[in-house]
Amino acid sequence: MSAATASHELVSELIIGDQVLAAGSADPLPHYYAATGEVNGQAAMAGTDQVEAAIAAAKAALPVWEALGPVERRERLRRLADVIERWGDRFESISSAETGIPRQGFIWRLRLSCEWIRTYAGYADKVHGDITASSDDGTIEYVRREPYGVVGIIITWNSPLLSLCMKIPAALAAGNTVVVKPSELTPFTPTLFGKACLEAGIPAGVVNIVSGGAEAGEYITTHRDVEKISFTGGLRTAAAMMRSGAALIKPFCFELGGKSAYMVFPDADLDLAATLVSKEMSNAGQSCKFGSRLFVHDAVYTAFRDRLLPKIAAVRVGDPEDEHTTMGPLITSAAQQRVLSFIENARDSGYGTLALGGGKPSVEARFADGYFVEPTIFEDVEPGSPLGQDEIFGPVFGMIRFTDEATMIEQVNATPFGLANYVHTRDLRTAHRVCAQVKSGTVYVNDANRRNPGAPFGGFRRSGIGSEGGREGLLEFLRTKTVGIA
Ligand code: NAD
Repeated sequence: MSAATASHELVSELIIGDQVLAAGSADPLPHYYAATGEVNGQAAMAGTDQVEAAIAAAKAALPVWEALGPVERRERLRRLADVIERWGDRFESISSAETGIPRQGFIWRLRLSCEWIRTYAGYADKVHGDITASSDDGTIEYVRREPYGVVGIIITWNSPLLSLCMKIPAALAAGNTVVVKPSELTPFTPTLFGKACLEAGIPAGVVNIVSGGAEAGEYITTHRDVEKISFTGGLRTAAAMMRSGAALIKPFCFELGGKSAYMVFPDADLDLAATLVSKEMSNAGQSCKFGSRLFVHDAVYTAFRDRLLPKIAAVRVGDPEDEHTTMGPLITSAAQQRVLSFIENARDSGYGTLALGGGKPSVEARFADGYFVEPTIFEDVEPGSPLGQDEIFGPVFGMIRFTDEATMIEQVNATPFGLANYVHTRDLRTAHRVCAQVKSGTVYVNDANRRNPGAPFGGFRRSGIGSEGGREGLLEFLRTKTVGIA
């Protein structure tokens, strides 16, 4: 199932064992180019029969993957990074065409995706257990770390290649095989990724790609042969998955949403903080770590605002193919409508004062039906209001003035989420004090939105369970077995 884009073909296929299938057994879904609203391809949709076949293929491939051994698994994963790098132009173009995110925003994502693969290639020959303290009766005990077996990978659409690379290489390095269900909104990058796996010599059946909808996801979640699920997506979906996996006590790793905060102290480098906030626009606010709440100390509030507003006003919204574009459209027409009505409600109910944006931007005529929303800033936002609490998943910031550090930290922590936060100060004591008190899986000082493959990334509270990245990300895909020899 394919259609031409500006520079590469958008191909959606299913990869099940050694078969590359051009059509799914469920009805295909039209794919809309977010920048124009025009149909630019068809997503092949797997039916449950095909998901069943993918799970069977993953199960059959387990001994094959195991027999290769850790060193060879490492080498195949390294080759995968090489193939993806070689096909980089295709990945950038296809990922941009299927999400509407500016193409230039995929250059660093491609590099980072390859870094994630290489990091986990390096872990493939470093899976080791422990020896426990000898017991009094002389029993020898040791702990093996073993793969789960078949792992279900269910992901969302907002960074298709990186999402795949943050999960699959770690699962494979641990010795598992995978059934991947990408979002129905972004089936094209995963198709190419599946082909890159085959090209790299990863045996057929080790990575199976079944694009599909909620039904396909649910089938994976409730299947007895799928021993663990790693999921990136929304809170409501995660809760539904927990319910449907409950009867099988299915283990989950969940990477969910957030309501991240910048905390700008009086001694902060205001230019740096404002620049980092403006760079958050590259995904049009559709990033889980998006720092949508800007807590700014009263002493520098006006100075920071005066730096930030021109930078946000200068964000170039428009053609994702244009190298000067810094923000594209939202993913779907429904997302655009949702964000615009959120803004309208916030304006009408006075949770904050609109300082910038708030509507549809003016774009070239050919993008008039695209799903664009202006970069938007509200000021003097009430921390407890929907603007201060809800994950908007659009280009909307709320500025919140603070004077007292303790009250501000309380407010930062007073959302259901706990994914990431960003402290801006030149004082190390402030930095350490605040980092210790905020409740989130990551906190960066004088920085923003990073994805270091060597460090665990995950959420507190309703932002998730478990981690991706670093050794913790590997351990997500391993379970322990204690062996005792009397
Ligand atoms: P979603 O939850 O609607 O969909 C995610 C995936 O789940 C899709 O593949 C979908 O088809 C599948 N799915 C839907 N219903 C299912 C069911 N009942 N059983 C199994 N699978 C099902 O995704 P969304 O809400 O559009 O994604 C955006 C969310 O993802 C945001 O909240 C964002 O913050 C979060 N996210 C988190 C991270 C992270 O690393 N923490 C990264 C990116 C996005």
